[in-house]
Amino acid sequence: MKYLKKTTINTATKSYPVFIGTDIIKSLPELAKEFNLPKRVFIIIDKNVELLYGAFIKKVISSFASKIYFLSLSSSERIKSFNTVAKIFTRLFEEKFSRDTLVVAIGGGTIGDVAGFAASTYMRGVPLVHVPTTLLSVVDSSLGGKNAINFKEVKNLVGTFYQPSFVISDTRFFESLPQKELISGLGEVIKYSYLTDGKFYSDLLSNNNLLLNKDSGYLRKVVYECIKIKSAVVSKDEKEISGVRKILNFGHTFAHAFESNSSYRLNHGQAVMAGIICALFLSFKKGLINKKQLDYMINLPIRFKSSIHLKKINANEIIRLMAYDKKSRGSKTNFVLIKNFGEIVIDMNADKKEIQWALNETRKLSV
Ligand code: NAD
Ligand code: MG
Repeated sequence: MKYLKKTTINTATKSYPVFIGTDIIKSLPELAKEFNLPKRVFIIIDKNVELLYGAFIKKVISSFASKIYFLSLSSSERIKSFNTVAKIFTRLFEEKFSRDTLVVAIGGGTIGDVAGFAASTYMRGVPLVHVPTTLLSVVDSSLGGKNAINFKEVKNLVGTFYQPSFVISDTRFFESLPQKELISGLGEVIKYSYLTDGKFYSDLLSNNNLLLNKDSGYLRKVVYECIKIKSAVVSKDEKEISGVRKILNFGHTFAHAFESNSSYRLNHGQAVMAGIICALFLSFKKGLINKKQLDYMINLPIRFKSSIHLKKINANEIIRLMAYDKKSRGSKTNFVLIKNFGEIVIDMNADKKEIQWALNETRKLSV
């Protein structure tokens, strides 16, 4: 087998492997046989990925499939909809795909979410394999079995938990990834580095130029670290019941408000990087970390400040959005803050003045 690394996600409903390496998509036929997966294959693929790699992927999958159907979709938040799901069901039905079907989702988180939702509901669920192709989908959305579509303009309102048979994370796909998409994935990568003992953070800090230059060896190593961290968390709390999974939301309360305040011009990872900076300032304000810790912990996300538009932060507007977001779910604004590397504090309250201070300090960094 050509994969370099493998990690396992153990949830109450299923244990499954995540394979990580370069060029490992070639192992898909071998793995499909090993896992006894159906030979009738329905591929849901990102249009850009199809243009770049479609012919090659078709050749690989043809070597084991008895029937192949390609459905290519132009990725954007808009395709996470009932319309797309209906389109997928229509093709599955009209092409006579039965329960004995393997759905392969090839693309970023958008494709993973809509394809995962369709696979989990068509005929009450058919086998699914994720082949994530963006940094964000490799380190985040392809892991843990969550999938969702947007409804009534609410992001991820409707979805299921549905674990795949396995995940193939082939870092070769990163070669064609636009810089903005790389940064988006890096937001989550940096977030993970606060969730463990601090070694990963210091490694990222000294090698952040390798990240930005998409050094393939280093990216493989980083991706493996992130996958291990997320796998451990979702294995402990598959369905967000015990609260363990909440630590993955470090920086996210602020980030969601930044995203919506920018009308989604800021992508998720950019917003997460800015959100982490705010969460660090707020952790300091609440006395959870001291000035020395703050200075060190902020060092890494700050290196990306030119791409995260901090200047545009309007504190009152962000506070309003965060309160609105929570009000609609009937709870208070709770923050996920930090005490030390690997010591995340969930459900922390903060008053308006403290939040305002954190936002203003973050904005000041842009000058
Ligand atoms: P995306 O899927 O929209 O992809 C971003 C862009 O990259 C698209 O234009 C796509 O065509 C292009 N692209 C993809 N792979 C490429 C490649 N290898 N080379 C060149 N271009 C490529 O974005 P994303 O950031 O991967 O995913 C975002 C989505 O993920 C959001 O909808 C979010 O809600 C969801 N998400 C889900 C979970 C979860 O647990 N289910 C977690 C995090 C995020
Ligand atoms: Mg996120």
